[in-house]
Amino acid sequence: MAAMAIRDILIIPDKRLRLKSEPVKTVDKALRALVEDMFETMYAAPGIGLAAIQIGVPQRVVTMDLAKKDDPPEPQVFINPEITWASADKSSYDEGCLSIPEYYEEVARPKAVKVKYLGLDGKEHELEADGLLATCLQHEIDHINGVLFIDHISKLKRDMVMKKFKKAAKRGDEVHVAPKDDTPEHHIG
Ligand SMILES: [Zn+2]
Repeated sequence: MAAMAIRDILIIPDKRLRLKSEPVKTVDKALRALVEDMFETMYAAPGIGLAAIQIGVPQRVVTMDLAKKDDPPEPQVFINPEITWASADKSSYDEGCLSIPEYYEEVARPKAVKVKYLGLDGKEHELEADGLLATCLQHEIDHINGVLFIDHISKLKRDMVMKKFKKAAKRGDEVHVAPKDDTPEHHIG
């Protein structure tokens, strides 16, 4: 057994976050090792969702755990996830992203979605989601397509955020992924 590892999370304006990730061909040992690292990294951040590209791996893999803070963990893995249906009804959620630390904005998305994906068992599954799960799935599936939640807000706000992070990157500022007193629920991933 290889030891699990916490990986560095890419922060904007890192260009890799704009890559379209490649489909996973086989659910093998290497993929399971990647998933372990993703969970380690996501729980440490802390976040409730993570796409492989956020640790620099351009593969269509998403990890998630929406369990409440003091409840037992509920790890979920979505390989090659694909939205097959989205409701016309929208809902808004104050989203955040581990790749855009300490920035939150209301994003309106379809309230419910159906998602087809492979599980760690290598088999195809489909689920219908609403609420936080629907929001989180759409946020993470955006990531594997090179899309960020700030792409769904006004251009004015997006430009301001990008400018702030570009400046910080230039100065070489240390960017804190999550302040200690923040709840993981606030960080979609
Ligand atoms: Zn994110």
